[in-house]
Formats: sequence, structure tokens, C-alpha cells
Amino acid sequence: MDRIDFLKYTSLGGIGLGIMPSLLQSCSKEDDIDINFNGKVLIIGAGAAGMMTAYTLSQYNIDYTLIEATTNYGGRVKKTDSFTDFPIDLGAEWIHDKPKVFGELINDENVDGNIDLISYQPESIYFWNNNSLTETNLGSHFYREYKFKRTTWYDFFEDFIIPKIEANVTFDRVVESIDYNGDKVEVLTDEGQTFIADKVIVTVPIKVLQSDMISFNPALPSNIRQTIDEIYVPPGLKVFIEFSERFYPDLISVSSIAGVNGAEKTYYNAAFKKDSNKNILALFQVGKEASELTDLTNDEIIASVLAELDEMFDGKASSTYVNHVVQNWVSEPHIQGAYTFLELSQYEGTSEISRGLNNKVYFAGEAYHQQANATVHGAAFTGRDIAKTIIAGG
Ligand SMILES: Cc1cc2nc3c(=O)[nH]c(=O)nc-3n(C[C@H](O)[C@H](O)[C@H](O)COP(=O)(O)OP(=O)(O)OC[C@H]3O[C@@H](n4cnc5c(N)ncnc54)[C@H](O)[C@@H]3O)c2cc1C
Repeated sequence: MDRIDFLKYTSLGGIGLGIMPSLLQSCSKEDDIDINFNGKVLIIGAGAAGMMTAYTLSQYNIDYTLIEATTNYGGRVKKTDSFTDFPIDLGAEWIHDKPKVFGELINDENVDGNIDLISYQPESIYFWNNNSLTETNLGSHFYREYKFKRTTWYDFFEDFIIPKIEANVTFDRVVESIDYNGDKVEVLTDEGQTFIADKVIVTVPIKVLQSDMISFNPALPSNIRQTIDEIYVPPGLKVFIEFSERFYPDLISVSSIAGVNGAEKTYYNAAFKKDSNKNILALFQVGKEASELTDLTNDEIIASVLAELDEMFDGKASSTYVNHVVQNWVSEPHIQGAYTFLELSQYEGTSEISRGLNNKVYFAGEAYHQQANATVHGAAFTGRDIAKTIIAGG
């Protein structure tokens, strides 16, 4: 089964785990560039895109400050070490590219970016449809992807990227306005602090731009405003549950939901090929139906999820339940949703946005990658590329 067949199959059958049609191409390293910039840069947002922007500027000794609204790095790259005996990715979890992508991201021949990975090919796969579980033999053909064996996406950034940028990061400052009317750009935060720079790179999620949490002066041009407003970012969440017994297969796709506009609802064995004897089942749901869960409190979410699993497994979920953690991405005030679902016709608009405004304000993040939107590496590469554009004098 080739990639296209696989994607057709999965969109009909409903197994995807966030695999997007465009994810499978990695970016090649670019040749070194001449440095034609010696000003100051501000980066807004410390997710994958913001961190990689900062990392690239550091590699070329450019003066910059990264401003992050929360008290943590990562954005939609987030982990917990305390839930079970292996670290859990509460946001991005799969590597939707070849393992060599890590070397491309680190882009430093002195650093060994080899990471212990799992080849992700679940062996027992079921559909949940019309109140019935049906096994499929898709397993041996499941499109091969990778997961981290002992670490997480967050650990990748913590190990390789953060040490190079941490001196330049200001946490807990919410950017509220960007004034690019004059020679310099002025950025104002919620605490009344003003930052001044020659260039600003905005890496906040599309939802944040849609909700006008940051004002621009001059206002964003109408075509850019329209592109941003029309991008669909569905709700999404993850739930991890520990059980005292293993009663579930490697993967269950809820067929009634999956496949429409990229929506999916998938239960999967989160301990698959990890060094762990724990029974950890996860739910990953994204798409408009996810709001049936994301609109609830965390207590209501786990109750609803256990009820669905009890229906599938004859009450086994409630009777063997031990513990859970919910990560509701809609309720994160500076994220507000899952990731972008772009129509083919929207790529031109997002490409135009990333070319920037008046050579002063630029945009990077998962929404703007032309082949790998909605991924960590895609977001990171947009940050790297904008940084290089600025360094080269663009
Ligand atoms: C449930 C889920 C599962 C996913 N699974 C995968 C997967 O398996 N593999 C994969 O590759 N990708 C996956 N993704 C997508 C991936 O996580 C994202 O594409 C990527 O992490 C986005 O990075 P980013 O830098 O563009 O944005 P973000 O990570 O959202 O970073 C933006 C940052 O901006 C900050 N910010 C927002 N507003 C302001 C402000 N006003 N001032 C200052 N800072 C601000 C935010 O706090 C945040 O830190 C998943 C996403 C979700 C939600």
C-alpha cells in the first residue's frame, strides 16, 4: 500500500492519528547564508516554531528576545513525567517524518541527534461502529510512523534546542499589541512592558490571531486578515487512562467520527513498545465532534470516556480504572484548539502571510508550512526559514 492508498483507506476507514496528507516530506538542509542583518529581533511564542527561530538566530549570533505568554516552553509540545513510569506527550506525540528530521532540525554537525525511536505499526486494530467492535487486518499494512521510545517531543527540545536559547527567553508575558508603523517595531505586553526591535516574528497559534488577542498597528491587510479568519482549527484533546488490566487492543478507531474533514477519534495503547508494564490507554480526538468533550469539565470528560469504553468492553473500563490525565487543548488560553486543517486553496494565502508585513513583522508556525502544516517539525522549519530570511537581509 503506498502513501496515497493508505491515506485514502484511512480516511474511509477512519484511522489516522493525526497523519496529514502532506506530512511525509522533510525539509532539506539549506546552504549556509551570508549575514546581512545586525539589528534586534523579537520572537513571540515559545512553541516549536518560536524555539526553532530562536535557535537559528543563536547559531548566527543575532540579538533577539523570545517572549512567551505562559511559564513554559513548548506550546502544543507538552509532556508529563508524573503520570506513569514513562513520559507522556500531552500534545504532539508522533514523528510524522523520517528520523533524519531530528538531525535537520538540530542542524549542527557537532551534535549527535540520534534518538531511540519506536517504529509505530499497531498489531491489533479495531473499528468501533454501530455499537460493535470489529477487528481489521490493516495492521501489517499500517503506514509506518515513528514514536519516541523513552522520551518525548518536549525532551527533544529540552535536550537539543533549549540550552542554546534559554538566556534570551522572557516567560509569563502576554503580547497584546504590535506597532510596526515606525522605523522600529514596538511590542506591548499585558504588564505594560514595551519591547522595541527591528523585526518581529509572530509564532502564536492561528486561534490567537483569530480572536484578536494581539492588535496590530497598522491593522493587518484585509487579505491577510481574511486568510487567517477562514482557517479552520478544530477542537482537540487527549486523555490518558491507567487500568489495572489490559483489556483493549493496540488501536480502536471510532468510525462514525473519523474521516470527515480530517476528524478522528482514536483510542490507542500509549504503552505500545515502551519499556513499561503499565496499562495506559489514550484517547486522541480532533474535529468538530471533539467539542462534545472539550466543552466539558475534566471530571465530565473522563466520565464520558469511561462510559464509552464500558460500552465497548462490557464494563471493564470502570472496573479496572486506576488513574487518568486530561489535556484539553481548547481550554489552554494561548492555544485554544488543536491544529490547522487547511483546504488546498488556502496554502497560497498562508504562504503570503509568512512573507511578512513591511519587512518588519513575520509569521511562523504550523499553519504556514506548505507541506507539513499541523506538525511539530513543520512548525519548527517555518521558524528556521523565517530566521534565515531575516539573517540574509530579507
Ligand atoms: C492533540 C494534538 C496532537 C498532536 N499530535 C501531533 C503529532 O503526533 N505529531 C506532530 O508532529 N504534531 C502533532 N500536533 C501538532 C503540533 O503539536 C503543532 O503543529 C506544533 O506543536 C505547533 O507549534 P507552533 O510553534 O506553531 O505553535 P504552538 O506550539 O501553539 O506555540 C505557540 C506559542 O505561542 C504562545 N503564545 C500565544 N499567544 C501569545 C501571546 N499573546 N504572547 C506571547 N506568547 C503567546 C503560546 O503560549 C505557545 O507557547 C498535535 C497537536 C495537538 C493539539
